Amino acid sequence: MSLDPEPLQPGATIGLLGGGQLAQMLVLAGHAMGFRFMVLEPNPDCPAALAGAEQITASYTDPEALAKLADSCQLVTYEFENVDAEAVSWLEERVDVPQGSEILRIAQNRLREKKTLVRLNIPVAPFQKITTENELSLALKSLGELMLKTVTGGYDGKGQVRISKVEQIPEAFSTLYSTKTEIVAEQFVSFEREVSVIVARNRLGEISCFPVAENVHEKNILTISRIPARLDSRVREQAQLLAKQIAEGLELVGVLAVEMFVLPDGNLVVNELAPRPHNSGHFTLNDCATSQFEQHLKAITNFPLGSTEMYKPAIMLNILGEHLPLLLKRLKDLPPEAKLHLYGKQECRPGRKMGHLNLTADSPESLLENLVKLGIWDEALLYKML
Ligand code: AMP
Repeated sequence: MSLDPEPLQPGATIGLLGGGQLAQMLVLAGHAMGFRFMVLEPNPDCPAALAGAEQITASYTDPEALAKLADSCQLVTYEFENVDAEAVSWLEERVDVPQGSEILRIAQNRLREKKTLVRLNIPVAPFQKITTENELSLALKSLGELMLKTVTGGYDGKGQVRISKVEQIPEAFSTLYSTKTEIVAEQFVSFEREVSVIVARNRLGEISCFPVAENVHEKNILTISRIPARLDSRVREQAQLLAKQIAEGLELVGVLAVEMFVLPDGNLVVNELAPRPHNSGHFTLNDCATSQFEQHLKAITNFPLGSTEMYKPAIMLNILGEHLPLLLKRLKDLPPEAKLHLYGKQECRPGRKMGHLNLTADSPESLLENLVKLGIWDEALLYKML
């Protein structure tokens, strides 16, 4: 009989690679659980430090900084997938890194990610690896309209080009290939909705999913999530089942966001994995028995997972740099139940995530109508959720 792994002791220090808003919200949740935090982050005064984590200000690959993290912490976790997998492997030899470096290697490389999903029998858009213009032209013939993506380094829509005609090939190829990473051509999916599921798994193999979120992006940055997603219960259950299959297949420890496209016939296609808390799960902070941050910490510290029960329909709006100044002037016009989260970032620029707003309502429709009147978020985007 195997012994249950020991829960991390109160007062223990958790190391964080990356000190942005996800790390900040992990710190806030973790303090309530009795843990200390040390963050490795090159930008001084990072949001995690603002929440009380001790900061090592150095690059994510600095050997001295990594050694200090390994020596000072009982376990280490990461808040985004662009940390160096080699650095995480190095840490794994010295300190407990429950998420591990393997899932990071998969999520960092779109080809590896897709091949892994195929191996796990998870539906993905048909794809091909591209190394020459000729291969691209063959892919366009066989797959039709394409979304071209760099295999590594792309996030928030960077490193992506959509093409439908042969004439677009030379420019698309040279734009993406010049970045010196491989390219993957994916069939363009005419989806009806984009959704995501956050799934958690601990070392005992306990698995739990949060409700399915429906997401709208602008310029590939998440703007608004509506929870639960407007889907048949059959499709919702299927989305959660896929997320659980992936969590089991990858032997996940921690939380993982699974982004999916919903096709007009209700079938689902998995687009991307993020092995960490996710922007589309911020509603859980105010609307679920356990937040995604608390759940991640429970999973990596060998605590039983918490309930993911949701109390009311929710809307989450990202507050980007372009929204913040007006929002601060209109605070009194926000619905009284609104929960405002600001990350304390000093520099406010367009497209930068400065905070988010969590709202709950029995009728998301009337809530959205009121949000349109506020004039802070783009009306057309809000109407996509109506
Ligand atoms: P990604 O970086 O893969 O999450 O892509 C960013 C956004 O581009 C997604 O949220 C979709 O809106 C869109 N997108 C990505 N891949 C495809 C695809 N194969 N077909 C249609 N739209 C896509």
